[in-house]
Amino acid sequence: MVTQSQQKNTQLIHSGRKNRVTQGSVNPVIQRASSLVFETVADKKIATRQRAKQALFYGRRGTLTHFALQDLMCELEGGAGCYLYPCGAAAISNSLLSFVQQGDHILVTGAAYEPTQEFCQVILKKLGVETTFFDPMIGADISDLIQENTKVVFLEAPSSLTMEVGDIPTMVKSVRAKKPEMIIMIDNTWSGGLLFPALQHDVDISIQAGTKYLVGHSDAMIGTAVANERTWDQLREQSYLMGQMVDADTAYMTARGIRTLALRLKQHGESSIKIAEWLAQQPEVKAVYHPALPSCPGHEFFKRDFSGASGLFSFELTQRLDEQQVAAFLDHFKLFTMAYSWGGYESLILINQPEEIARIRPNIQRKLTGSLVRIHVGLEDPEDLIADLAAGFARIR
Ligand SMILES: *Cc1c(COP(=O)(O)O)cnc(C)c1O
Repeated sequence: MVTQSQQKNTQLIHSGRKNRVTQGSVNPVIQRASSLVFETVADKKIATRQRAKQALFYGRRGTLTHFALQDLMCELEGGAGCYLYPCGAAAISNSLLSFVQQGDHILVTGAAYEPTQEFCQVILKKLGVETTFFDPMIGADISDLIQENTKVVFLEAPSSLTMEVGDIPTMVKSVRAKKPEMIIMIDNTWSGGLLFPALQHDVDISIQAGTKYLVGHSDAMIGTAVANERTWDQLREQSYLMGQMVDADTAYMTARGIRTLALRLKQHGESSIKIAEWLAQQPEVKAVYHPALPSCPGHEFFKRDFSGASGLFSFELTQRLDEQQVAAFLDHFKLFTMAYSWGGYESLILINQPEEIARIRPNIQRKLTGSLVRIHVGLEDPEDLIADLAAGFARIR
């Protein structure tokens, strides 16, 4: 049984395993369904009345497999409810759409995951919702950007690619002081929902690309949004109207992944810090942007607010690599592979040039001059990953 006083890693083993959803096995059953059958008129009536509360009503409202994952997510992030989406981008777009209407204004971090920014610039703009992008290190000054029609603040920490860690508690307090009813959301993917307890800091909705650490094996896509009491009904009902749902098999795989989330993140964190510290000693590296290192903007907030690190970080080289050097560096790694996404058990590497970063981050002050390497440190032995990176540096010398 799960109790309040238990550690999170204990709760993640035992949550979402009520007899109702496991039917006597260890894991929840995979209940694949569109139609859910009512035996009597009275049963149909009860299911209809209870449909928002995990009654078996219709596939789009979820089955036992979904309920198990939703319970597990609520335990993980401390929310009143969790909506499930087919991918992280859907969780972000539908969470935003659930709380805005024509004529509204929203505030979004200018260092958000790029498709989040584009969703605001393309889709929300088309619907007559205006976005102001702010610098992730803005702190308490964020409240100066609040207008009469501002409805939502969207945060992300650490930032995608550039890894700034904003002062989330101060930003939230400043927003609440000026406009208490504001809906505050965060893309909490980097922390897996475990290393940063967003809802405890008075954020209303914590969103994750579950595709990354929740699934943890790079073989499924899902988005999650854990909402507090105040926002849950509206998020659920509006996401439902927009037809959001994920299949039972993916929900099962995600719950299965979460059983080892705490253990995996511990290893991703330890290894990534070890590698980041090694990188900081290399002559080719100008600065390492790993939240656990002082060279990362917002390191002091990371130390105060996060209980640990995960495996994703960036480092800037002293030079801007030319095309040939980029290929020489990236094409020959033995362990690091090139791919979008991250959060699986395997290590990944990508390069972004400073002008690309400037183009997708027009609203943030910090400018880079060298090539930016982003790595995801997987579960391989960190010494083997260091040897792989060392060989890469030798190739560009
Ligand atoms: C990958 C990612 C997303 C999008 O998730 P998908 O499942 O690929 O749609 C959103 N936010 C962040 C920070 C991500 O890294």
